Amino acid sequence: MGDVVTMDKVVSLCKRRGFIFPSSEIYGGVGSTYDYGHYGVLLKTNVKNEWWRAMLQDRDDIVALDSAIIQHPRVWEASGHLAGFTDPLVDCRTCKQRFRADHLDQLQCGQKPSKRPGEGPDCDLTEARDFNLMFETTVGPVKESGATVYLRPETAQGIFINFKNVLQFSRRKPPFGIAQIGKSFRNEITPGNFVFRTREFEQMEMEFFVPPAEADRWFAHWLAERERWYVELGIRPDHLRLRAHDADELSHYSSGTSDVEYLFPIGWSELEGIANRGDFDLSRHAEHANEKLEYVDTATRERYVPHVIEPAAGADRATLAFLVDAYDEEQVEGETRTLLRLHPRLAPVKVAVLPLVKKDGQPEVAREIWADLRRRMQAEYDEGGSIGKRYRRQDEIGTPWGVTVDHQTLEDRTVTLRDRDSLEQVRVPIEGLGDELERRLRAPWATPKLAADPA
Ligand code: ATP
Repeated sequence: MGDVVTMDKVVSLCKRRGFIFPSSEIYGGVGSTYDYGHYGVLLKTNVKNEWWRAMLQDRDDIVALDSAIIQHPRVWEASGHLAGFTDPLVDCRTCKQRFRADHLDQLQCGQKPSKRPGEGPDCDLTEARDFNLMFETTVGPVKESGATVYLRPETAQGIFINFKNVLQFSRRKPPFGIAQIGKSFRNEITPGNFVFRTREFEQMEMEFFVPPAEADRWFAHWLAERERWYVELGIRPDHLRLRAHDADELSHYSSGTSDVEYLFPIGWSELEGIANRGDFDLSRHAEHANEKLEYVDTATRERYVPHVIEPAAGADRATLAFLVDAYDEEQVEGETRTLLRLHPRLAPVKVAVLPLVKKDGQPEVAREIWADLRRRMQAEYDEGGSIGKRYRRQDEIGTPWGVTVDHQTLEDRTVTLRDRDSLEQVRVPIEGLGDELERRLRAPWATPKLAADPA
């Protein structure tokens, strides 16, 4: 059986279950802008926490940073964004739409969607011109006399400009890294595909500073590490690949870049870029700020500008990939069961506690169990509607385990523990339930979609 997932199904599940929905809907919406609801927040937070865990907890050579969104405008002069962070844009004089000149072959004409822009009989495209993707705003009380500043288009520059600070207080020496998660803003000409490309998004970026001679080795290290991260969190390995950029694709600063790509329903697309940036960033800021941004070894007096390996991921894009990879449908007793086979560590809710009926003392015991479990993990209590309907709801939000309290529970203090993926139900004592769930949560996990879908 092939993979049943489509982007439309994921979008509609996200809306139906309150993961992610179009922003400003009561005002008619603003294109390609989304808000995250309860389960979306929990899911994306888990994705970010897993990233932090991989950066900060599982190793001891990276420190965290949270830099400002609005930085000195000269940061963007030094980084090259002011001059070069542009996409080529064409306007259509007929339909008044704007298109990315380098994406015309994937876009639809504003009047005849079956045609590409420029192919329709009335299309009248302008010449391509460069369009800077940075959002501008003004700092200061009076717009006219204020200073123009920019909403950061990436989190990385906030790391480079703090290199000296961090070096001093963290007492690190290369190789070491600085990691940051935060919002970035790009005035994308053609955003789309749900949260794959939006104008406001969260990035998870890490700059790893190394002695120049070690750059190639660390580049290879981070390629492998970042690919492993997605696989460990349940992404099917056959839906993930590393793709090295061709020489003509490379950014001006990069001597090597590879993308981690995921096979979305829209085709193979970038999840994360891993670049060998050399000493470009530190040298540029050193020059523009007239500061020495280098490492001096106190023992050997050796001084050098570290080279940088950067894994740059998107939290929203990763969240979308996890959702797409987890989405599944199967036939159970003549009905279609829709579920998210999320890695338990990513699942918004780990366990749902459900009394079989809303009487006979069952809700009271179930609430007791819930109160105990929620001290350890995200747990939900639900007593409304038929048990089948409640299971379906939990399946759709990807809850890996369900605990059901029934009449036998009142007699022998046991409950049934239901597994989302296998639908197996086992009877277990209430005593030790929390330990058992924590054990399961720590265990390695692989999606059953792997076995079912060789495609
Ligand atoms: P793309 O080619 O898709 O525009 P990029 O190469 O410009 O991406 P980077 O500048 O390398 O992207 O940013 C690192 C990561 O940030 C991307 O791999 C992606 O996960 C995320 N990202 C970048 N732009 C967006 C966006 N507009 N919406 C959502 N996520 C984004």
